[in-house]
Amino acid sequence: MYLNVAEIESAITSLHGMYPEATEIITPPHTTHEGRTTRLLRVGARQADEVPGILLLGGMHAREWVPPDALISLAADLLEAHGSATGLGYGSSSFTAAQVSHVVENLNLFVLPCVNPDGRAWSQTTSAMWRKNRRPAPAGSTGPSCVGVDLNRNFDFLWDHTTKFAPDADVHTSDHPCDPQVYRGPAAASEPETRNVVWTLDSHPRIRWMVDVHSAVPVILHNWGSDQNQSTTPTDNFRNPDLDAVRGRPNDGIGEFMPETDLKIAVELAERMNNAVRAVRQVDYGVEAAYGLYATSGTSDDYAYSRHVTNPATTKVFGYTIECGEAFQPVFSEAEEVMREVSAALLALALSAPEVTDGLEERADAGGARPAGPDRVAR
Ligand SMILES: [Zn+2]
Repeated sequence: MYLNVAEIESAITSLHGMYPEATEIITPPHTTHEGRTTRLLRVGARQADEVPGILLLGGMHAREWVPPDALISLAADLLEAHGSATGLGYGSSSFTAAQVSHVVENLNLFVLPCVNPDGRAWSQTTSAMWRKNRRPAPAGSTGPSCVGVDLNRNFDFLWDHTTKFAPDADVHTSDHPCDPQVYRGPAAASEPETRNVVWTLDSHPRIRWMVDVHSAVPVILHNWGSDQNQSTTPTDNFRNPDLDAVRGRPNDGIGEFMPETDLKIAVELAERMNNAVRAVRQVDYGVEAAYGLYATSGTSDDYAYSRHVTNPATTKVFGYTIECGEAFQPVFSEAEEVMREVSAALLALALSAPEVTDGLEERADAGGARPAGPDRVAR
C-alpha cells in the first residue's frame, strides 16, 4: 500500500529513532495552505556542513504516488544496510557494503519525500488525478480546478513566461488560476512548498546536486528545460532580456548557455543513473535535456542550476528530474519495481557524483577549457 502523509511523517520519525547517529530531522519553516509541516531526513554520518550533499525531492505533484514511497524506501534501505554492514541489491543493480558505507560516511542525502502533502492527501482521499497544491481559489474564481498551484512551475526561473518566452514557444505553464494542471501561481515562489525547497538550498550550501523525482514517462532529464542547450555563446542565457521575444523556440540557433564542462557532468551523471535503472529489470529510461520533453519555466531543476548564475555566491547545483515508471498510481507490486529503479539510480548518483563532478571540473581547469571570470556570467 502507498504511504499516506501521516505514514510518511512517521517513517521519518522512526528512521531517525532507529539511526540517530546517521540521520537528522530538518524542518523547513513554511507551513502549507492547510497548515501542514513538511520535514526532511538528512541521511549521512557527517554533519550537514562537513561533506557534499544531494537534495532529493518527491511528491511535488500530488497524483504521482510512487516518488515519496521510493525516497522513504531508499532511506530505509541505505540506513539498514549501513547499520548491518551489508550491501544492497535492486534486481541486477547491486552495491557492495563498502559502497553503501562510502555513501553514508562521505555524503549527505537530504531526503524531502513529500514536498506537497496537502496535494497528496487530496489525491489519496478525494481526487486521485489532482496535481497541484491546495492554495485556495482566488476571490471571484469558482470551481474545483481554481484551487491550487503547480509547484513545478512556481520556482523563480523565467517564471513569467508571458514576457520571457516567444509567443509560439509552447512553454507548458499557465497564468490562469483555473488551469487544472499547470497554473504557475500569483508570483514566483509564492507557495510555501516552493519556499521550503528554496530554504533547504539556501540553508545548506554544501548541496551540489538535486534530483526531483516525478512520474511517469519514463525519462531522466538534466538541465535546461527552457530552451535547447548551447555551449558557445555565454550571453545567450536566461538573464538576457534581448532573448525574451524569442526564447524557447526549437532549432532557431538560440539556446540556453551551459558551459561545456557542466554539460558533460550533467550528462555523465544522468547516464550513470540510467545505467543503474536499466540493470534493475532492463528498462531503459533514457537521458535527455529537459527541453526535449517540452519547454518549461519555473521548474525546480532549472531553478537549482540557475542559482549560481544569478548569484555567484551560491553553490552550483546540478538539477535533475527523474520521471519514473509508466503510471501515476500503478498497482503496488509494479510500484515496488519502480521504487527499486529509483533507488538504484539515486544510489548510483550518490556513489559517483563527487568524483565525476570534481574530476571533470579539474580536467577542464587544467586544460584551460573553462572560460574564467565574468565572461561566464551574463550581463
Ligand atoms: Zn510531476
